[in-house]
Amino acid sequence: MSVIDVDVVDDHERFRAELASVRPDGRRKWIYARKPEGRFTTARTLVAVVLLAFLVLSPFLHVGGHQFMLLNVVRREFVILGYPFWPNDFYLIALSFLALLVSIVLFTATVGRVWCGWLCPQTIFLETIFRRLEWLIEGGPKEQAARHAGPWTLDRTWRFVVKNLLFWVVSFGIANVFLAYLISSDTLLGYVNDGPFAHLDVFIPLVLFTSVFFLVFARFREQACVIVCPYGRFMSALVDENTIAVTYDFTRGEQRSKWTKADTDAKRTAAGGTFTRASGHGDCVDCYQCVTVCPTGIDIRNGIQLECVNCTACIDACDTVMDKVGLPRGLIRYTSKAAVEEGKTSWLSTRVKAYAVVWVVLMSVVISLFVMRNDLDVLVLRQEGTTWVRTPTGTTNFYRLQIINKTSESRDVTVDIIEPKGAIITMVPPLRSLEPHSISRSRFLITIPDSVVGRRSDLDIRLVVRSGTTTISDVSTTWLTGQ
Ligand code: SF4
Ligand code: SF4
Repeated sequence: MSVIDVDVVDDHERFRAELASVRPDGRRKWIYARKPEGRFTTARTLVAVVLLAFLVLSPFLHVGGHQFMLLNVVRREFVILGYPFWPNDFYLIALSFLALLVSIVLFTATVGRVWCGWLCPQTIFLETIFRRLEWLIEGGPKEQAARHAGPWTLDRTWRFVVKNLLFWVVSFGIANVFLAYLISSDTLLGYVNDGPFAHLDVFIPLVLFTSVFFLVFARFREQACVIVCPYGRFMSALVDENTIAVTYDFTRGEQRSKWTKADTDAKRTAAGGTFTRASGHGDCVDCYQCVTVCPTGIDIRNGIQLECVNCTACIDACDTVMDKVGLPRGLIRYTSKAAVEEGKTSWLSTRVKAYAVVWVVLMSVVISLFVMRNDLDVLVLRQEGTTWVRTPTGTTNFYRLQIINKTSESRDVTVDIIEPKGAIITMVPPLRSLEPHSISRSRFLITIPDSVVGRRSDLDIRLVVRSGTTTISDVSTTWLTGQ
């Protein structure tokens, strides 16, 4: 295995050998990101607010008597968008999850890490809540860096305490929201009412998870994306030169160099002039605004990098600079490497077409299964531990019946035997109306007169379960008899 010797790496290539957030001696280099402002930041904030509202409210909303979103793994109760799933629907959940994974693969191959920048909970929590609290309490990056480098004054101490207290409270809130998804909001509110000491088995893990969230957002931060997140790792295998990503247009920006006020004024007065500097240098004014705003501390001008979460902060920062110097926006923009180099991009590479075919097939299967999903699920089994019984009217076998009513309405059902002719079915006790979203378990006897069956044991028993006049299940089961 070759090891890169960082001491001999050229300064321009140093970013390949070092992480922006790790010093050469291995110690953490804290990233003091500047607050971004601009159209992409505004759009991302709006998306984040909508997603946060969805995340927080979903377990507390009820639709048709169900929590809007519930993922109770222990009790195997799942409600997604108010649509309840039962354990026997697990294949649908698994296939939907697979479809989601393929969707992410397809979207990554075409539009890059849109997930990371716009949708990932880590990014949304960190950039929308925690970092904003930090800016509010500790000020901008320069103030933060100066304070952290200085002694523990009263000013530094109170800001540290208030910030971490608020971080802890928000982390505790996040942990409670996730808990509401797992154990249901009604159960959670019941526990809150009882007090933490009445449910220490829940409260202690809750505090542990709060601590994890707190440490991730207060200390670990971008390291989660850069070092831990598996998506960030396999992303490099999914993208190519045609993938859309936050990209620096080096053909326009290089050779970068500092701009003077005179340059800018000369540019502005050059009526109808091109946007190339008189000196022949590119449009990048080497102001480092795109670097100081980056939450992972990288320089996007070095090209697409694994550490880039496509948060768009550098687009806004650079657009602001371009506005100030009177050049067109978009020196950093959403585009592909191929578009920058050759002026055109090919979205539909063979790889993307292959992903798209898999995605279409998978989505078709998932949608078809959802559409064909029965409102009532019927299961008939012979009763364990019983055998056939001779009665005055014939031979009798004992069966178990389970019906899951997945609808929000009560349902009346009947069970009739259609094969063999002459067989009699007796429900014990008689079937009652099925409650909405419930499992009904009952038993029944099937008696077949000797004149019909004799001593045969190879009979196929066919039953039909109806709700009103609608047949909901046609079931075959086995028969047991002897000499
Ligand atoms: S913000 Fe734009 S102009 Fe400034 S260094 Fe970055 S790419 Fe160059
Ligand atoms: S390089 Fe730009 S898009 Fe990538 S993480 Fe940094 S600021 Fe965000």
